[in-house]
Amino acid sequence: MVISDFSGRSRLDACPGALQVHAAADGGLARVRVPGGRLTVPQLRELAGAAATWGTGVIELTSRANVQVRGLGAETGFAARMAEAGLLPSPTHERIRNVLASPLTGCDARGVLDVGPLVADLDRRLCARPALAGLPGRFLFALDDGRGDVAWLGPDAGILPTGAGEAVLVLAGADSGLRVPVTSAVTALLAAAEAFLAELAAQETHAWRISELSDGAELVAARVRAALDTGSAGPVRLRPPAEPYRAGRPSAAGGPVGAVDQPGGRVALGVAVPLGRLTSAQAELLAGLASHGEVRLTPWRGVVLPGLDRAELPRAVARLAEAGLVTDPGSPWIGVTACTGRPGCAKSLADVRSDAARATLSRRGGRTASATGAGPGAPIEGDAPGATGPGGRTEPEGGTPPAAAPHVADSPRTGTLPVHWAGCERRCGRPGGRVADVVATGDGYRVDLDGRSLTCADIEETTAAVAAARGET
Ligand code: SF4
Repeated sequence: MVISDFSGRSRLDACPGALQVHAAADGGLARVRVPGGRLTVPQLRELAGAAATWGTGVIELTSRANVQVRGLGAETGFAARMAEAGLLPSPTHERIRNVLASPLTGCDARGVLDVGPLVADLDRRLCARPALAGLPGRFLFALDDGRGDVAWLGPDAGILPTGAGEAVLVLAGADSGLRVPVTSAVTALLAAAEAFLAELAAQETHAWRISELSDGAELVAARVRAALDTGSAGPVRLRPPAEPYRAGRPSAAGGPVGAVDQPGGRVALGVAVPLGRLTSAQAELLAGLASHGEVRLTPWRGVVLPGLDRAELPRAVARLAEAGLVTDPGSPWIGVTACTGRPGCAKSLADVRSDAARATLSRRGGRTASATGAGPGAPIEGDAPGATGPGGRTEPEGGTPPAAAPHVADSPRTGTLPVHWAGCERRCGRPGGRVADVVATGDGYRVDLDGRSLTCADIEETTAAVAAARGET
């Protein structure tokens, strides 16, 4: 049994929302939940406009495929504008609508089913249950379409279809042993959320995640099974006594980047957003290119544009590259993440985003950008995200691919070991798995990998150490 002590916690965690704005060092921070990462084009435009009007002009993408805007003043119309755009459907439930979904679901043949309708159903039914407003803002749902890309990202409650009209119920990031009919998947997820709240009460704790409860996954699974067996959800069964179900593979660092074939000559284009910072201008560009009317945010702080006409692809790739967005899976930006750092976080010992941008850009073409505080998302002064061609024209990274030879999303890459830059030892936002950590020390950075550390006195030494860790030298 795991003994956990969360007695020092208040019941409500401090996760910000559109209404519950967090006071950060650089102003108000509002977070907007985007279940399944799905935004309509008008919604993306509203976000871009609100960020430019009341915030810093940057939309930050989060590891839960949500968005946040910084630098808000005390009095803004931000929340009202989000509500008008349909991005704040429930004031009471706004912070608990944390729902991951496979970003390419319905686009290609790798999934068992399109989970898009299930995301909408879960969101609607979640908001309709008053008791579930008491979930912590850390509680995470995941609807995997069977490819195994989001089921293993540590959700509290998730489903992973197996292809036989049945889905694995994932609890606390692992196979719970329960199998539910796909038609009852949303019912099972809601039952898991209610079971978690019941266990919180039974254990008299303020845990935020199932994994923080004593024997949480087992006890929640038992409650779910009891609830569904007495309901109309259909048969629930335990898996045969064998290995836990595994499907898919960890997505390559950065998630889907590049073109993925869709039926009918269409393509879905995965776009990496350097350090997850999307300027309002970049958001407007994405909205303009999203001819299918939808933009999907990914948990890897990127974007998927589904349903593009293949003939549009070269022009779209070129325009995205000119704007500093990445469609080349071989880009050095892939797998590079950073915490907020200065000036947004008072604890930070460095402006890690500018330093990460400077180090990453210097690996491309041997050029070192001027780090003047211009963060990623905006071109770094003295450099542009694309290589400059004859006559000053900006070329996309890797050149413009011919329509017949698109990049392949999730293709194997070299030199893309995940690298996480952090302004202090807390390492907020660090991805799971094997990661090279670049931690500010106040006198430079320390690069940690596989239990070994290298202290670096300046950004040049740090850049070289990161490149060595990624196998780029
Ligand atoms: S890792 Fe440290 S500096 Fe970075 S956001 Fe977290 S607390 Fe702030």
